[in-house]
Amino acid sequence: MLHSPITAIKGIGQARAKALERLEVSTVEDLLHYFPRTYQDRTKLTSIIDLKHGDQTCVHVVVLNKVTERRMRKGLAVYQVKLGDKSGTMTATWFNQRFVMNALEVGKAYIFFGDIQVDRYGSSMQNPIYESVDHAGRYTQNIVPIYRVNDGITQKQMFTAIENAYGMVKTQLTEYLPDWVLQAHDLPDFSQAILNIHFPINADSFLQARKRFVIEEFLLLQLGLLRIKGQSDVLTGLALPMKASVSTFIKALPFTLTLAQQKVVKEITADMAKPIPMRRLLQGDVGSGKTIVAAIAMVLAVQNGTQAALMAPTEILATQHYHSFQKLLERLNIKLALLTSSTPKKQKDAIFEGLKTGEIALVIGTHALIEQNVQFSKLALVVTDEQHRFGVRQRAALSDKGDNPHTLVMSATPIPRTLALILYSDLDVSIIDQLPPGRKPIKTYTVTDNYRKRVYEFVKKEVVAGRQAYIVCPLIEQSESTDLTAAVAFAKTLQDGALYGLMVGLLHGKMKPSEKEAVMQAFVNGDIKVLVATTVIEVGVNVPNATVMVIENCERFGLSQLHQLRGRVGRGEDESHCILFSEAQSKLTKERLAVMCQTNDGFKISEKDLSLRGPGDFFGTRQHGLPELHIANLFEDMPLLAIAQDIAKVIREKDRQLELAENQPLREKIERSFGTKWALPTPAPF
Ligand code: ADP
Ligand code: MG
Repeated sequence: MLHSPITAIKGIGQARAKALERLEVSTVEDLLHYFPRTYQDRTKLTSIIDLKHGDQTCVHVVVLNKVTERRMRKGLAVYQVKLGDKSGTMTATWFNQRFVMNALEVGKAYIFFGDIQVDRYGSSMQNPIYESVDHAGRYTQNIVPIYRVNDGITQKQMFTAIENAYGMVKTQLTEYLPDWVLQAHDLPDFSQAILNIHFPINADSFLQARKRFVIEEFLLLQLGLLRIKGQSDVLTGLALPMKASVSTFIKALPFTLTLAQQKVVKEITADMAKPIPMRRLLQGDVGSGKTIVAAIAMVLAVQNGTQAALMAPTEILATQHYHSFQKLLERLNIKLALLTSSTPKKQKDAIFEGLKTGEIALVIGTHALIEQNVQFSKLALVVTDEQHRFGVRQRAALSDKGDNPHTLVMSATPIPRTLALILYSDLDVSIIDQLPPGRKPIKTYTVTDNYRKRVYEFVKKEVVAGRQAYIVCPLIEQSESTDLTAAVAFAKTLQDGALYGLMVGLLHGKMKPSEKEAVMQAFVNGDIKVLVATTVIEVGVNVPNATVMVIENCERFGLSQLHQLRGRVGRGEDESHCILFSEAQSKLTKERLAVMCQTNDGFKISEKDLSLRGPGDFFGTRQHGLPELHIANLFEDMPLLAIAQDIAKVIREKDRQLELAENQPLREKIERSFGTKWALPTPAPF
């Protein structure tokens, strides 16, 4: 059966099943969808006399003598055999593979495949693969798939398992894409495509199969996400029309909105004016000014007599938002509250009461906002800042406290627009693609330890000129297993040494919220000049007077994370600098750091990050609750994405809920990959 566990496949016992499980393969169907990473073309056949050094080819040979064994130094055994064809002779050598002694028969014909070496002794192959001529055509003289494997399963075992799985279910491989899709795009049917993706007879057959699966993967993703969106499109929410008082609020801001901000404000307010709950993603690079946009939307909600909530991932960020909202809303008569887990009990109770009666119109907080005790009188707008830090369920929990409230999620992890369109096709996307005026690009350098003294001199110089600096370390306390610079010890060393005379502060995740708050406040006030911190400051922190960001052991961070950290500076009009300390010499590290030095553009950086790390890693799709992409390559397969989008459109125009008979198999397939029943009302995904 297609949906049986993999142990139903011949040759797969518990141990191998575990190894497959780690590759996220647990059913026969999963295994068939476990596509090759690449292929090796082993179809070329060469006569011995024509072999050239460096060739990768098959030879059709007869075994000329018994395999010899030579014991070298301890633990190493060499097995060698002489091979011949009409044109000449050659040798084959294996290391520590004793079984070849009994596997090869003198006088019998075999196909050997491997890398050819030609030297003064003649031609040879090391550790070649071979099959007797009677059974050749699987691992030799064939296009052989290469799978991603682990230490619990070998290439050959994987190949055999897939072969057996295919043999077992090949008559059950019924098509689930509608006929017209296959015809319109000249795609092989499911059964054919599975055969050709695992056992292609030539490049063309596999390309056709691949094309089918890429289109299919994009299509399932699109339809699945659009369905989520569709479910919210039919809900009714509160229409919150634009108010004159909101325009006045915007005009009274201490700065003029950038054109990009104006554009997204328009998009958001237009959404909110409709009685359909908004579901919008606001993307903008670090420092592009997302907070004020959220504030405007929240003021609009409040001016319509409803409540708005903003959830931030850290206490530091929530507190900072609270303070800046206090300033922004000074002239409006809006009751504002801050709710975090460290809010004192008495105050908390008062806030609960105020939210319930509606007396508090606007609340900013952390996860504390989704506690059971929090109830609203009329919650009409939910904003989530740095949405990647929250799970789907947490966002849903906050939205559930209102009656289909409008939702706005903000993200500073810029992803390429094309990608956003797929990964967030359940959302409308607004992008702030412009920084506030006067910002200068942050100058970025990578340095080694040799520069330490000069770097501290530079920090001092900046502080003397009235500015401030961050120094970020990956860990909190010295741990024996690593030699990472620890923030705690490090702050002290700096205070007593290189930065003697400057006020050095320390901020890390294990501090009490009140301590964190005090340190942050001292940094905001400018009392603390240099803040040594862990990545607690990664998201959102906004102190425009800080102009230097020093990052220790920066090879420990992902590119997007480095970009986030760097985004803590360059928030004012002064020239800012980011200094990346790294001793790591690997090519990949160098390449990544070079990207940081070359560009300040978060979109470019995330694109690079994506190509260096691969999409699975990048999105943590698990956390988004999205199925992962197994075969599609988001960069190379853009044209196929466009095809999939067109198909999705046609299907939805005709059969929005996938109710037609021809769409049933597709619908079941989507239900399986999204892990939810189509018909069941899913909770709002925020
Ligand atoms: P992010 O998009 O990273 O969340 P913030 O909302 O924290 O960015 O804004 C960064 C800084 O830019 C803040 O100090 C904010 O007051 C300022 N800012 C935002 N919009 C403008 C603007 N249009 N003109 C000038 N400064 C702005
Ligand atoms: Mg922000």
